[in-house]
Amino acid sequence: MNAPLSSLAELTPDQAYEQVARVTHEVAATLARRLRQHTQGDVLFGLADRGRYATDASIYQVMPVGVFVPRDIDEVGVALDICRDLDVPIVARGGGTSQCGQTVGAGLVIDHSKHVRRLLELDVEQATAVVEPGMVLDHLNAELKPHGLWYPVDVSTSGQATLGGMAGNNSCGSRSIAYGNMVHNVLGVQAWLSDGSLLDWGPYAQSHGKAREIGDFLRQLAQRLAPDIEAQFPKVLRRVAGYNLDIFHNQNPRPYTPDGSVNLAHLLIGSEGTLALTRQLKLKLSPLPRTKVLGVVNFPSFHQAMDSAQHIVKLGAPGQLMAVELVDRTMIDLSLKNPAFAPTVRTALLGEPQAVLLVEFAGDSKAAIEPLLDQLEELMGDLGLPRSVVKMVDDTAQKNLWEVRKAGLNIMMSLRGDGKPVSFIEDCAVPLEHLAEYTAALTEVFERHGTRGTWYAHASVGTLHVRPILDMRRDGAAKMRAIAQEASALVRRYRGAYSGEHGDGLCRGEWIQWQYGDAIYKALRDIKAQLDPANLLCPERIIAPPKMDDTRLMRFPPSYQVIPIRPALDWSAWDVQNDPRTEETSMPGTGGDPAMGLAKAVEMCNNNGHCRKFDAGTMCPSYRVTRDEQHLTRGRANTLRLALSGQLGPDALTSDELLASMAMCVGCKGCKRECPTGVDMARMKIEVMHQAQQKKGLSLRQKLVAYLPDYARHAARWSGLLNLRNQVGWLARLMERTVGISARRSLPRWDNRHFFNRGTMGVSAAQAMASDRAVVLFVDTFNGHFETEVALDAFKVLSAAGYDVHVAAQTPAGHGANQGHLCCGRTYLANGMVDQARDKARQLLAALKPFAEQGVAIVGLEPSCLLTLRDEYAVLGLGADADLIARHSLLLEEFLARELKAGRLESLRQRLGSINQPILVHGHCHQKAMGLVPDLMEIVRLLPGAAPRLIETSCCGMAGSFGYEREHHDWSMKMAELSLLPALRSSPDALIVADGTSCRHQIHDGSQRHAIHVASLLARHLGR
Ligand SMILES: Cc1cc2nc3c(=O)[nH]c(=O)nc-3n(C[C@H](O)[C@H](O)[C@H](O)COP(=O)(O)OP(=O)(O)OC[C@H]3O[C@@H](n4cnc5c(N)ncnc54)[C@H](O)[C@@H]3O)c2cc1C
Ligand code: SF4
Ligand code: SF4
Repeated sequence: MNAPLSSLAELTPDQAYEQVARVTHEVAATLARRLRQHTQGDVLFGLADRGRYATDASIYQVMPVGVFVPRDIDEVGVALDICRDLDVPIVARGGGTSQCGQTVGAGLVIDHSKHVRRLLELDVEQATAVVEPGMVLDHLNAELKPHGLWYPVDVSTSGQATLGGMAGNNSCGSRSIAYGNMVHNVLGVQAWLSDGSLLDWGPYAQSHGKAREIGDFLRQLAQRLAPDIEAQFPKVLRRVAGYNLDIFHNQNPRPYTPDGSVNLAHLLIGSEGTLALTRQLKLKLSPLPRTKVLGVVNFPSFHQAMDSAQHIVKLGAPGQLMAVELVDRTMIDLSLKNPAFAPTVRTALLGEPQAVLLVEFAGDSKAAIEPLLDQLEELMGDLGLPRSVVKMVDDTAQKNLWEVRKAGLNIMMSLRGDGKPVSFIEDCAVPLEHLAEYTAALTEVFERHGTRGTWYAHASVGTLHVRPILDMRRDGAAKMRAIAQEASALVRRYRGAYSGEHGDGLCRGEWIQWQYGDAIYKALRDIKAQLDPANLLCPERIIAPPKMDDTRLMRFPPSYQVIPIRPALDWSAWDVQNDPRTEETSMPGTGGDPAMGLAKAVEMCNNNGHCRKFDAGTMCPSYRVTRDEQHLTRGRANTLRLALSGQLGPDALTSDELLASMAMCVGCKGCKRECPTGVDMARMKIEVMHQAQQKKGLSLRQKLVAYLPDYARHAARWSGLLNLRNQVGWLARLMERTVGISARRSLPRWDNRHFFNRGTMGVSAAQAMASDRAVVLFVDTFNGHFETEVALDAFKVLSAAGYDVHVAAQTPAGHGANQGHLCCGRTYLANGMVDQARDKARQLLAALKPFAEQGVAIVGLEPSCLLTLRDEYAVLGLGADADLIARHSLLLEEFLARELKAGRLESLRQRLGSINQPILVHGHCHQKAMGLVPDLMEIVRLLPGAAPRLIETSCCGMAGSFGYEREHHDWSMKMAELSLLPALRSSPDALIVADGTSCRHQIHDGSQRHAIHVASLLARHLGR
C-alpha cells in the first residue's frame, strides 16, 4: 500500500514517486514521456495536479503517480499499453464523485470526463443509445428529452456523474423501484482488458472468441457455486458489492434482462474499474414519464414511516410507483430554518410530523394517476393514519418539494468543525419488512458510540442514507469500525446488503468476503485473475482490499497538521468544534485551527463534485470553459488544503501551482451560494492573493487596477489623452506588451466631466438627518467616473420617488468638486491588498455611520461594490460598525423593492411610462450570490407593459479586471459565449438590463449592444 501522503510533504516530488505503488521515479518519468510522445492528452505529473486527483467524495486520499486526460477514447488504449509495458496500475475516473474511495489509487489516474463524452448513437425507435464513458448523465438526458426519452438511473449527482462512472459503481437512482439499477439498464459494453484486447460484452448466447471464453468460465463458476450463490447473495434490488457472479443465477428481485438471459456486460457493471476499461456503453432508454403526482404522507413517528414503506410499495400497477423517499424530522427542521424553503415545506406538512414519505406516481395523464393518491390515503387510513396525506398534483409544487429534499442534505453537510457526517454505512439495504427494526437498532448503535445520524432517501428499496458524525482526526476511525461492525451484524440479521448503492472502493472492500463467504470470494478472486492477470486495473480494490479504517489512506489522518499562519481576513466563524449528538458548535475561534479558521473553511469541501455543473446557477464558470480539475472550486479547495497542510512542500501558499489554480477564479461567489457546504473560494482567493503580494509584491497591472479609485479623479483630467488608447492600435498593443492588458479590449472611457466634479447635488448630511424620507446614495468609482449617467439616473429616480437624496462623500457636506468620493475597497481586495481595503472601509464606515445610526438606507449601484459592505466587511475586523452599515446597505433595486412592499413607491409608480420592447435581464454574479435577482426583476416589472426575461447565465466572463487581462481574454469571451451572448443574439430587439459595470462592458464587447443599469431603465421612463 502507499505511503501516507502526509509524509510526502517532507519529500521532494522526485522522491515522492518512490513512495507510491510499485513505481519508481524513473518509471514515472518514462511513463510521462511516453504519454506525451504518443498522445495529445494532458499529462499531469506535477505534485499539485496529482494532489487534486488524490481524493474523491470519500474520506480517503491516495497520491497517484500521475494523471492522464485523454483527448479521445482511443488514447485510453494507448495509455493502457504504455502502463502495461511499465507495470504501472491504472485508476479509471469519471466525475470522481464516488463516496467509497473507488477513484483514488496509486497508479495512473485516467480522467475520462473532459474529452471522452460524446453521444455516439441514438436509436429512438429501439430506445437505445451508445455513449462514451465520460458523458454526464444530465447531458445525455438533455439530448434525449426532445425525443420523449430518458436514461432513468437518476442518481442525485446526475449533473456530475458520468455514464462510465455510473456503470463502474452500478449506480442507482431515486426511481430504482420503477427502473432498476445500472445493471438493469445497460445492454452492452465495449471495453479493454488489461492485456490490451478490446472486447464487445453483450448477450452471452451471441458471444464469441475471448468474450465467449470468459462467459463459459463464469458459467462454470456460477454452476459450481449455485448453492452458495443462493445462500449468500442478498435478495434485495440494491446490492452492489463485489462482482455480479449471479448473472448466471440471478438473485436480484428484478431480472437483469427482460427474458432472463445472460448479458456478459453485466459482469462489468459495478466492477469499479478493476476488470476492464470501458470504451463505450450501449444503454437501454425509457419513455419520459408524461406526468407525475406526489403524495406526502405525514407520520407521527419515524418508526411508523419505516413500517409503512412495505405497504406503500404495493400501490399502483407496475411502473406507476416511481419513488418513496424519506425526509426525517431533523431534515424537516433544517429546511424550515431556511427562509427560501420554509414556505414549500409548510405546504407538505400536517401538524408536526416526525417523518414524511414522498410517494411519487407517474402515468400518461393526471386523471389516470390522481386516483392513486386516493388509494394512498385509503391505505394510510387502514394503517391507522387517516388524513395524513398531502396531495400534490401541480408540477411546480412537486418540483419545489423535491428540491427541498436535496437541499436538506446539503444543509446537513455544511456542519462546521472537525466532526463531519461520514459516509460508510450510508447505503446498507434491508428488506422492507425489516426497515423499521433496522433503523431503530442502528439509531441505538449511534447513541452508544456518542453520535447520531439523520435519515433520508430511498425508503422504497430499503436503502436509507445515514451518516453518523465522526471526527476522523481523532477517534473517528476507531468508531467507524465499531459502528460498521454492529451495522454489518444488523444487515446480516435482516439478510440485507451491506453495500447497496455507493460501491465498495476502499471503504467496503473488506466486507465483500464477509458478505459472500469464502467460496464466493475465492470465485471473485478467480474472476479478477482471469480478466486482469497482471493486476493492472485498480489493484487492491474489491480483491485484496485494505482495511476500511487504515488511517494511512485517509484525507484527515490523526497525523494531519496545518501550517500555522495568520490570515488577513477573519475566518474564526469556521474555527469551531461541534457536538456530534446535538450538532451545536463551539464559540468562533475555539476550534484550534493553527490557520485561525482558514484551514477549516477550506476543509469544508468534501469533494462531492457539485461544482462540476453546467446547467443553472453560476458555479463554476472557469470549469465550465476549461473542464480542468484545476479550474474547479473543488480543485482549488484541494490545492489550498494541501498547501495549508504542508503537503505541497514548503512555501506552497505562495507557490506558482497554487496561484495557477486561483488565476482563473473570477471571484464570482457562485460557490458561496451554490456549494452545498458553502466553500467561498472568492474570499479564499483574496487570502491567497494577500499572501502572494506580501511575498512577491504587485505587478504593474495589479497596481493600475488596485489604485484606480485613488488616481481616477486625477487621471480624468487627462481623459482626451488616455482615451487615445482605444483609438490608436499601436498604443493598445504597447499597453498589452508592457502592462498585460489585452489589446483586443476596449477600456472604459475616461470623462473629464464625471459625477464627482459636477458640483454638489442633493441634500446635505444635516438635511438628510432631519428628513423622514432620506436616503444616502453611494456612488462607486466605476459609475461615478466612467458611467456618470447611471449615477445621475439613480439620483433622478430616487428624487422622483420622493426621497431626499444625500450623496455619500468623504465630507459630511456632500460630494463637491473633486472632494474625493468614498470607495468600498473592492479593487484592493481583488488584488489581496487587505490592509489598504480595510483603510478604505474605515473611511467609508466613518462617513456613513451617522446615517446608519439614524436608520437611513445606504443605496448603491454597482453590485460588486455595494455588496462588499455586506460580505467582505464582515471579515475585515471592523467591529460593530461594519454590522451596522451592512444592515442598512442596499442595492437600488433592493431598496425600491422594500419600499414598494411598504407602499411608499406610489408616486414613482404613477410617473413611470410604459414599455413595449422585450427586456432581457442579466444578473451580476454577486447579485445572484446574495439572492437579489428577484428584486431586480420586480423593479423592472414596475414599468407598465414590462415582461422581462431573466437570462440563465453564469458569470459574464469580465469579472472586474479578469476579462481585460491578456492571458484571460479568450477565456473571458468563452464564458460569455456559454449562454449570455447566444441569448442576446436570439433576441436582437431586446433592451438589455445589467447592473454590473463589467457585465455591461462585456455585453458591449461581445455583442456591440448597449446594456443599461436598472436605474437608467427607470429614469428613461419617468414622465413628468
Ligand atoms: C452527494 C452525493 C450523492 C450521491 N448520490 C448517489 C445516488 O443517488 N445514487 C448512486 O448510485 N450514487 C450516488 N452517489 C455516488 C456517485 O455519485 C455515483 O456512484 C456516480 O455514478 C459516480 O459517477 P462518477 O462519474 O463520479 O464516477 P467516478 O467516481 O469517477 O468513478 C466510479 C467508478 O467507475 C470507474 N470508472 C470510471 N470510468 C471508467 C471507465 N471508463 N472504465 C472502467 N471503469 C471506470 C471508476 O474507477 C470507479 O470505480 C452520490 C455521491 C455524492 C457525493
Ligand atoms: S467546492 Fe463545494 S461543490 Fe465543489 S466539491 Fe467541494 S464541497 Fe462540493
Ligand atoms: S468564485 Fe466563481 S470562479 Fe471562483 S471558484 Fe467560486 S464559482 Fe468558481
